[in-house]
Amino acid sequence: MIVVLFGPPASGKGTQAKRIHEKYAIAHLSTGDMLRAAIAQGTEIGKRAKAIMDEGKLVPDEIVVGIIAERIGQADCAKGFVLDGFPRTVNQAKALDGMLTGKNLGVDHVIVMEVNEAELIKRVENRASEARRNGEPVRPDDDPETFKKRLAVYKAETAPILPYYEAQKKIRRVDGMRPIDEVTAQIDAVLGGGKPGKSWLGKWLTP
Ligand code: AMP
Repeated sequence: MIVVLFGPPASGKGTQAKRIHEKYAIAHLSTGDMLRAAIAQGTEIGKRAKAIMDEGKLVPDEIVVGIIAERIGQADCAKGFVLDGFPRTVNQAKALDGMLTGKNLGVDHVIVMEVNEAELIKRVENRASEARRNGEPVRPDDDPETFKKRLAVYKAETAPILPYYEAQKKIRRVDGMRPIDEVTAQIDAVLGGGKPGKSWLGKWLTP
């Protein structure tokens, strides 16, 4: 099963992707996490990405497409994966389809997490204060001004992917304003609950 978790920054993609990873035993692929790891390791990619990320802009398509192309070839992706933060441009979505078609695969579901802007800003402020309270570093791109820029980038470059997937009839919308467990339940309703015989196919195969 290949799932794209789609939504603005701070809409809860990371939290829900982690749950999908655990429940459905598929790999969790977060390009943001992979880029932050590259920065921490001081790799060439990390060096190129750092300033761009700190400013709230998008890392060039060829970098993230390269990272994903390599990652989905690894053994733990054989049963499927959930993409968190990728694709973020129409070009990335097309590149993903290209990679998957080459393997006779395709995206099964695009789950769109709907959260309004005021709530996103509130969440990111909470995330920053919580980090400060715990004596942890605040993500540079969670600074309020940078976060507003990330939202603008989402609207200008990422949201235009939606018509692309709408044309493929893959979009399923969930109300990301609900409490975390309720959002998980909405996602489970799309994905089939993760129990044998409860998938959309299993429903027909199980007596
Ligand atoms: P995230 O953790 O998903 O919010 O990503 C943090 C930052 O990493 C983003 O603001 C971008 O600068 C960069 N990034 C992550 N994923 C992508 C992507 N698919 N395309 C371009 N930049 C990305």
